Amino acid sequence: MNSIILKSAAIALASVAASLLLTLIIVPAMGFPVTRTIWLTSTVCPLVLAWTACAGTFWQSDRLKNAHRELARAHAQLAAAHRRLAEKASRDDMTGMLNRESFFAALDGSRRKSDRGALLIIDADHFKKINDNFGHLTGDDALLLIASAIERGVRSGDVLGRIGGEEFGAFLTGATEQEAKRVAERIRREVELIRFRPVDERTIPLTVSIGGTVCGEDVNVSDLMRAADRRLYQAKHAGRNLTILDTDISEAA
Ligand code: GH3
Ligand code: MG
Ligand code: MG
Repeated sequence: MNSIILKSAAIALASVAASLLLTLIIVPAMGFPVTRTIWLTSTVCPLVLAWTACAGTFWQSDRLKNAHRELARAHAQLAAAHRRLAEKASRDDMTGMLNRESFFAALDGSRRKSDRGALLIIDADHFKKINDNFGHLTGDDALLLIASAIERGVRSGDVLGRIGGEEFGAFLTGATEQEAKRVAERIRREVELIRFRPVDERTIPLTVSIGGTVCGEDVNVSDLMRAADRRLYQAKHAGRNLTILDTDISEAA
């Protein structure tokens, strides 16, 4: 407010000075004497008019600037809330991993950037039995332990998602067949090492079967999924707690 009064006063004084200068030039040039009334009019009029007009304009402009600032702040808050909601909507509530839709979107994005990488599908073995024997809540606990073991098994930068009830997807960015086999085996081992004791000192074994495939050129996400799924099926039929992974998409798909 003070700055508005000061700025308006400065402009009003400049207007008075300009008005007096013009009066002193124009009035004698027209052959009239510069009377007290003329002095007074050429001082008071610009002083009052310029001051009030400037103060009004500066005040309005200040209000507009404040409104703009408020709008920008509200916009930033909305954008942050939108980001948080989008992030929450893309995650599986239970494990915090990407949900199925977001996992495949991330996979698709990754494929567009590079042809290299490997897809693993990881499925908990005989999980129905855990639910049947210990109840669904205990099953949830086991699932969380498996999810953590998978997270420990992958490398930073790999993309993880929960793509079904007890089924997870891992996209190993840029991985070769050798690297993918190492990661898949590490995940299988991490799960196998879990000591799950839901009721007493007895350890209930938790294992996963893993099917995987290494990306080739011009292979879309559906082909990759089909190939990895086929390997998972083979791993289940070969006795479970196994990883099967190769590069041959055509035969698997
Ligand atoms: P397989 O080794 O052939 O994969 O056997 P499985 O029992 O794991 O497979 P199946 O498809 O027969 O059963 C999957 C079970 O996983 C049944 C379902 O109730 C359970 N399941 C899926 N999602 C959840 C979950 O979020 N929590 C719990 N507790 N169980 C779940
Ligand atoms: Mg299963
Ligand atoms: Mg399954």
